[in-house]
Amino acid sequence: MERIYENERIRVIWDPDKCMHSGICTEGLPQVFDIHKRPWVDTNAAAVEDMKRVIGACPSGALRYEVPNELDHARSGGDRDVTKTE
Ligand code: SF4
Repeated sequence: MERIYENERIRVIWDPDKCMHSGICTEGLPQVFDIHKRPWVDTNAAAVEDMKRVIGACPSGALRYEVPNELDHARSGGDRDVTKTE
């Protein structure tokens, strides 16, 4: 069953059934992914971009993320493309 670790900037989803314990996440960002802590994922311990990079390197697909702000930016970015017809 998937576990979720989140703050207001990112949601990290981990599926223990898929994890092959490669250690990519714990070596890449040990301040976030620490199996000796509970919970073992601390989403406040690093920048979102760093977490996205390490999660993207997970070889099994056990880790994935959702970043709600990216959707907000995409919507607000459309304002710049408004053209005047006058
Ligand atoms: S990188 Fe992915 S497969 Fe490797 S230990 Fe972390 S969650 Fe498991």
